[in-house]
Amino acid sequence: MAKVLSDIEIAQQTKLEPITAIAKQVGLTDDDLELYGKYKAKISFDAIKRLSKNEDGKLVLVTAITPTPAGEGKTLTTIGLAQALNYMGHKAVVALREPSLGPVFGIKGGAAGGGYSQVLPMEDINLHFTGDMHAITAANNLLAAAIDNHVHQGNALRIDVRRIIWKRVMDMNDRALRNVVVGMGGKVCGFPREDHFMITVASEIMAALCLASDLMDLKKRMGDITVAYDLDGNLVKARQLGVEGAMAILMKDAIKPNLVQTIEHTPALVHGGPFANIAHGCNSVVATKLAMKMGDIAVTEAGFGADLGAEKFMDIKCRFAGIKPDAVVIVATVRALKMHGGVDKKNLQEENVEALKKGFANLAKHIENMRLFDVPVVVGINKFISDTDEEIATLRKLCEDYGVEVALNNCWAEGGKGGVEMGEKVLKLLQQPKTPYKPLYDVNASIPEKLETIVKKVYGGDGVLFEGNAQKQIKELEAFGLDKMPICVAKTQYSLSDNPALLGAPKGFKVTVKDVRVCTGAGFIVCQTSNIMTMPGLPKVPAANRMDIDENGIITGLF
Ligand code: ADP
Ligand code: MG
Repeated sequence: MAKVLSDIEIAQQTKLEPITAIAKQVGLTDDDLELYGKYKAKISFDAIKRLSKNEDGKLVLVTAITPTPAGEGKTLTTIGLAQALNYMGHKAVVALREPSLGPVFGIKGGAAGGGYSQVLPMEDINLHFTGDMHAITAANNLLAAAIDNHVHQGNALRIDVRRIIWKRVMDMNDRALRNVVVGMGGKVCGFPREDHFMITVASEIMAALCLASDLMDLKKRMGDITVAYDLDGNLVKARQLGVEGAMAILMKDAIKPNLVQTIEHTPALVHGGPFANIAHGCNSVVATKLAMKMGDIAVTEAGFGADLGAEKFMDIKCRFAGIKPDAVVIVATVRALKMHGGVDKKNLQEENVEALKKGFANLAKHIENMRLFDVPVVVGINKFISDTDEEIATLRKLCEDYGVEVALNNCWAEGGKGGVEMGEKVLKLLQQPKTPYKPLYDVNASIPEKLETIVKKVYGGDGVLFEGNAQKQIKELEAFGLDKMPICVAKTQYSLSDNPALLGAPKGFKVTVKDVRVCTGAGFIVCQTSNIMTMPGLPKVPAANRMDIDENGIITGLF
């Protein structure tokens, strides 16, 4: 058998086209671009305004079953499907999230797709790219510095230093910074207090960037961010510190979407990347809407399983952006379904049709969930080399019996050509008349009502329990009149429930909410279930240990 090339080896064999040529395909001129070298560009808001007069293309959302350590391949399916549609003569554009540096060096690796379905230059996209992450880090930390400085300079706002909510961020997996003490060193160094670092993608500025319509909207949202409580228990907003203008300066380029290309030269917008567990987990509204103006079909991804990313895509992103997908692809793999059916990770290579049938319950629940939003669904089976014909045939049959469209997706091995069946099925769904937007819940319902709806309908649970301060926090938000916003559940991605050990489609559980806080800048209410890590750590042998660069600038080990 031929050697299986790594993602980076495949990427390095590809001859890129100049980004100006890619831009031309979608009606953009050289004047519309701000070039970051030869292969990356930001798109100006003048161009976005001009293209906004185009008719909207169709929107396809790629989501997945509940992830397992076996890997699902949403990003590569998103890229592969767009390549397939182009290969079939359509004009498809990809809209994806930007990878975070931390996980690149940690365990997860890059987020630029895989095999013959990648966005390029993958090294740049996975590393500093066009600096958006650094801009968010700077804007976030400017606000943090302004808070401590305000206290140091006399604290006119009477900020309660024990109740400062705003945290510092850094785009690195560094557990040592999770809990720190700042302001040590005596009077000239300010007031000592406990502080915390999060990874940059967990910053509310990232979520605000991804939901904002332009820089002025982002500036307003950054001003609206709640940073602390004062000594009377009132919320203190970033605006009261007077730095939202300076923060907006730092974000002036980050708000513009980034244009790159796939291995097959399909245009791709890679912009914004909030966490899908503590935030809403989708790329920017600006990029998604622009992709719909640039192509006949825009293909985008929502993070983790459909219970997290896709639910938030529908209930948060679509609600704010006034969009709705015309079709949804649920990525499933034989390997992951076997794990949901009880197979241990180390035995996944062995054929196991019975476990696959049992694990199908997880996929079935995600299909049912997407139907709640009244969107047509196709299952895309992401093919791994180890899958047997018998297993693939079984999964197809299970889908057909369930009454859902299904297609084999071999985009990892073959690029667009491997996604033709999936492309055909998607095109079939796109011909159906568009149905009206149908969110899961009324945003004006109470927080407990909204939570009950998500837990019962999407997670398959029996209800919600509140622990710790959660109920008090809900009362407080009601008193502030801040409870009429969409809910962003922070939950483990590894189960439909809030217990990562419960695979498949668990029943008979309740979800425990421990913390409820408002993101007044992003515009949603985060309801935290278990302890969600906002600053990851590095594993025993980090991916960084495998990486290198030689005297010719050739990078190795970056997946
Ligand atoms: P997700 O977006 O669901 O996190 P990705 O598309 O980023 O998944 O893929 C995760 C990793 O799994 C990538 O490194 C990719 O190369 C690998 N992978 C995905 N699908 C396949 C496949 N069919 N065969 C081999 N490797 C795959
Ligand atoms: Mg992904």
